[in-house]
Amino acid sequence: MGDEIRTILEQYALQNAVKHQDVPRAGAVIGAILGKHAELRSRAKELNAIIGSVLAGVEALTHEEREARLAEIAPDLIASMHEKREKSSDLPPLPDAEGGVVMRFAPNPSGPLHLGHARASILNDYYVRRYGGSYIYRIEDTDPKRVVPEAYEMVREDLEWLGIAISDIVYQSDRLGIYYEYARRIIGIGGAYVCTCEAERFRELKLAKKACPCRDLTVEENLLRWEQMLDGTFIEGEATVRIRTEIDHPDPAIRDFSAMRIVNTTLHPRVDATVYPLMNFSVAIDDHLLGMTHVIRGKDHIANTRRQKYIFDYFGWKPPHYLHYGRMSIEGLVLSTSSMHQGIADGTFTGWDDIRLGTLRAMARRGIRPEAVRAAVIEIGCGGTDISFSWDNLFAKNRELIDKGSDRYFFVQDPVHLTVKDGPEQTAHAPLYPGDEERGYRTITFNGEILIPGKEMEGNDLIRLKDLFNIRVTGENTAVYAGDSLTEIRAAKGPIIQWLPPDQTVPCRILTPEGIISGVCEAGVAGCVGETIQFERFGFVRIDAVADGCVTAYFTHR
Ligand code: GLU
Repeated sequence: MGDEIRTILEQYALQNAVKHQDVPRAGAVIGAILGKHAELRSRAKELNAIIGSVLAGVEALTHEEREARLAEIAPDLIASMHEKREKSSDLPPLPDAEGGVVMRFAPNPSGPLHLGHARASILNDYYVRRYGGSYIYRIEDTDPKRVVPEAYEMVREDLEWLGIAISDIVYQSDRLGIYYEYARRIIGIGGAYVCTCEAERFRELKLAKKACPCRDLTVEENLLRWEQMLDGTFIEGEATVRIRTEIDHPDPAIRDFSAMRIVNTTLHPRVDATVYPLMNFSVAIDDHLLGMTHVIRGKDHIANTRRQKYIFDYFGWKPPHYLHYGRMSIEGLVLSTSSMHQGIADGTFTGWDDIRLGTLRAMARRGIRPEAVRAAVIEIGCGGTDISFSWDNLFAKNRELIDKGSDRYFFVQDPVHLTVKDGPEQTAHAPLYPGDEERGYRTITFNGEILIPGKEMEGNDLIRLKDLFNIRVTGENTAVYAGDSLTEIRAAKGPIIQWLPPDQTVPCRILTPEGIISGVCEAGVAGCVGETIQFERFGFVRIDAVADGCVTAYFTHR
């Protein structure tokens, strides 16, 4: 087994070396392997133990020897390298990435992922796949008041659904000791001080570009105060560690921003602590310690990037390459975690996958495929321009993915009952998928009584019942057989509509973001739970459940 691991390491190291004409970094090789071989994740230690000697072996070979050896031990990797190279032209290259990258997806566990998170996680994932390397999923749970315990599990499920290749999971709540240590160090080198001014007082001074008295304390005094923050001498609101920036910096948000604070709460689901880092501190420390080479995040983090660079500078660390993409407005669905939370608590929403929410789980429930989300996000890319998310584009991509697999059925919305006179007793054979006879047919037997969608009664005399015959509407609930001719229907511009005999239906409600649509559908639909189907002339839906003989469907798109 040890040999097998060595061979896998050698394959990936060679592949990377051949591709980039350079020996890769250990992290990049291990990251790529763990991304592709989930079964090896529990054996990361063994990989780490031998990677050094494997890389030394690769180092000793010339480029030609590496190619020859790779062709010998892993011919298929050579082929996949060529495939990758073709695909990788989709998004612009990253600087200094050819030797492999280390990137991260770093959400707060305040709820499940939504489309905004999908963009961050997919773009970073895209580049890790493109250049090889590791992709760290870092859970930023150092704000105890904003941690939603069930979010840990939900985010993990959402990432799995999206197909994000995570090589490592890091919980920031496991790393409080590390942040304490670096807080002590940055205070020790004069890069930070412990401020005990009231928040409001500090704000006034800061806006007036004036230093607060704490700024002039000696390092020793600050270190003592820091110990007092940790030992409980200070309580919430009484002391905060501030990074020393420029007190007259043109952007007030940069002026001596907060790095560590006290939160007197026992709310945190994973740790029992009172001193927590603020985002800019823990993000900077971790981006360095975890070896991030590139950080792709939204423009709303530009001020944070500026703040975080002070921390890198104080420690003399080289910051990663940062790329900030533009804002993406997403219309029509609820995206704010706090509104979702509130709405679920007060019963407005049925749960985190309520169709009115912009969460990935709501999209999955309505039949949107992760591949469609990925393709839409990659197409949007990392440009700096603000855009509004195009649902139509996502839906078009999804339609392409689900169309072939979705059987066709009739759904009659707001049904109107018609008694049809003189119609021949006849059974309609409606294809499960138009043009594909092998998929089979649904049989619907006409017996004189039908239901048709209420709105088709408006202004239509001559109507064709799809896969059956024509009728002429003669009254509110009556119609008469009007022959079989399609030409006649076309000439009269009559609609060709879905219909169902009342005794061959089940009640059906379709949940849409705008509300519930009621009607009846073919009884066969009850056998499609978990699948997407197309209700003809209506749109695609995912059949969610059947309870008490009633079908519940989630609207996918037209
Ligand atoms: N956890 C923070 C957020 O989700 C920071 C993310 C980052 O630095 O990319 O906003």
